[in-house]
Amino acid sequence: MSEIPHFLPWQQQVASSWLTQRERFAHAWLIHGMAGIGKRQFALAAAASLLCESPQEGLACGHCAACLWVAGGNHPDLRRIRPEAIALEEGTDTAEEPAEQSGAAKKAPSRDIRVEQLRVLSPWFNTATHRGGWRVAVLYPAEALNSISANALLKVLEEPPEHTVFLLVVDAPDRILPTLVSRCRRLPLAVPSPADSAEWLSSQGLDDSTQWLAAAGGAPLRALEMSRAGGGACPEWLAQLVRSSAQGAMPDVGALAESLEKETPKVWIDALQRLFLDLSLAAAHASVRYFPELAGQIKAIAQKVPPATLADTGKWLVQQRAVADHPLNTKLFTYSALSRAALACQPQR
Ligand SMILES: [Zn+2]
Repeated sequence: MSEIPHFLPWQQQVASSWLTQRERFAHAWLIHGMAGIGKRQFALAAAASLLCESPQEGLACGHCAACLWVAGGNHPDLRRIRPEAIALEEGTDTAEEPAEQSGAAKKAPSRDIRVEQLRVLSPWFNTATHRGGWRVAVLYPAEALNSISANALLKVLEEPPEHTVFLLVVDAPDRILPTLVSRCRRLPLAVPSPADSAEWLSSQGLDDSTQWLAAAGGAPLRALEMSRAGGGACPEWLAQLVRSSAQGAMPDVGALAESLEKETPKVWIDALQRLFLDLSLAAAHASVRYFPELAGQIKAIAQKVPPATLADTGKWLVQQRAVADHPLNTKLFTYSALSRAALACQPQR
């Protein structure tokens, strides 16, 4: 038995006022905001609150029969729709999942929300809910819908089943089908204040959180994840790249690539993306956001590199991030991405 999902401290007020207007509650919500601020937790806590039989100021009471079912992961009116890969990361039981075809060849867990996951919901939509309450489908991340499953969901939302609420979680609404967005009410979630984030991080055992929060762009859950991943808020390889470049020297890309051999490409690509955002900020004479400890060197680089080069490299890194899950050749991918980033940091003659 696990705990009932609860709202994070900075979410409680917005959740409470949102959930107390249930009479005119929309049947589909798009919960969006920056990555790493706790949107998934918000959606799951909202689902628990919608199912609770005696909510307190709109929020789940934590001890009614519905709350106990939610905590046990077996409330019949709650479904979580997420990619298989995420379900595995969560380590949750599969009781609520559709039965996988046995005998199928073992494949890597899907990173997509597959159309089958929506198709199996049809009988659920047609089953009466417990005591005539809500039925809640939490879908995350909506970016994981592919074109087929997005269209299947669109069909459902065009003729919404009765008593059903869809909670879709997405970082940025422009990453999903616009027609899908238009079928949902939007609920934007803000980045919590630095004080709220620091207090929460401290309650999670991270006391010296300033640099982590900066590195995570102010997103507390992301900051915690980064701090637990090992290494420093500013990775040593990135600091080396910046220090050499600030002196106008090409860093030893081979050595840097070697030090990243065991890292997940997505993680270091993400760090490079943040570096190039900082470089662009410095080029625009704004304060750097992610790596304040390297501010001096970042400014020095930004002064010598054309802003267009920084912007182009930033765009290129976005594309690389999209393929970072499955590079054809990780070594080559690492070397070429670092080379391009390092070259972009060299003074232009
Ligand atoms: Zn309850």
